[in-house]
Amino acid sequence: MAEKLDIRSVREWLPQINNPLLVAGPCSLETEKQTLETARLLAKDHRVFIFRGGIWKPRTRPGSFEGIGSVGLKWMQLVKQETGLPVGIEVANAIHTEEALKHGIDVLWIGARSTASPFVVQEIADVLKGTDSVVMVKNPVNPDLQLWMGAIERVYRAGIRNIVAIHRGFTPFGETKYRNYPSWQTVIELRRLMPEVPVICDPSHIAGKREYLLEIAQKAFDMGLDGLMLESHVDPSCALSDKEQQLTPADLGKLLDRLVIRHQSANNPFFENQLELLRNRIDSLDNELLEVLSSRMDIVREIGKYKKEHNVTALQINRWAQLMEDRVKLGQKLNLSKTFTQILFQLIHEDSVRMQTEIMDNHQEKEI
Ligand code: PEP
Ligand code: MN
Repeated sequence: MAEKLDIRSVREWLPQINNPLLVAGPCSLETEKQTLETARLLAKDHRVFIFRGGIWKPRTRPGSFEGIGSVGLKWMQLVKQETGLPVGIEVANAIHTEEALKHGIDVLWIGARSTASPFVVQEIADVLKGTDSVVMVKNPVNPDLQLWMGAIERVYRAGIRNIVAIHRGFTPFGETKYRNYPSWQTVIELRRLMPEVPVICDPSHIAGKREYLLEIAQKAFDMGLDGLMLESHVDPSCALSDKEQQLTPADLGKLLDRLVIRHQSANNPFFENQLELLRNRIDSLDNELLEVLSSRMDIVREIGKYKKEHNVTALQINRWAQLMEDRVKLGQKLNLSKTFTQILFQLIHEDSVRMQTEIMDNHQEKEI
């Protein structure tokens, strides 16, 4: 368990807030007009509490739009004056942080690529020392919970007490439905180890596509997360970054209308329905379990074809003995009983051998 963090509740620093915490705004600020038009529309929706916009965009590859730069800070000040919404930007180094503080930016968030670097997080934290900023920490691009917690701890040790974690998914290994793999398990672990830290979900960067935003946002609430960060652009078709995943403010409103929002009640520090929440987590873990098993079976089938082509038996006893030994050891480390892991893998293995035998037999029939 990490040290107990004395984090201020979102309500303390944003007294007007009524759960959930919704942060919305364009991926990137592009022009003063685009910024103000988007902000005006979003401000009309009283469910939105913070206006976001990237002005320095750390892109994975050079050559795409890298942000409008410091001039965007002035546009954020205009948004604040005109709409009264607190404003937030991403900071990726000490200079960004200094500039943001100088311009009265209310919320500073550390992006996924920066969280992955303790040096960068530390240089940001050093500038934050002695301020009362609100700092949001996105998960790192890789599913390394320690790195995420480490970044939160660095910010905390700089004296920041207004901290929110943002779940934005993790870089997948191959082609996946979503742009980033959600790994809800990692978020549950963060909540277990740092229960004081509010966590919001960024469905935009998980989804990568508008069509998946609703299911991810709903899942975030089902998992008991505290809010959402959603990208919204006055005209997503012209957006200079992340155009596929941004919503017009009107569509954002429609998405929020469709969500069943589960949150902590104002007077009750416990979840309104703890049992339902836990069952939702179980459901979601079971889904992940089945998805993982199904991917495993896909690979088993591939291996079956390969073995057939090379005339190798479906059952390879040495590999199987070693696998069982390794899995039991790992299971024990993860607090699973030896018998449980053995039975589970016997079942998995039996079905894998059955499947591979079928592949081989089918082939033979065809050849006959
Ligand atoms: C963003 O919020 O626009 C952004 C770049 O996000 P991430 O750091 O999650 O990729
Ligand atoms: Mn973006």
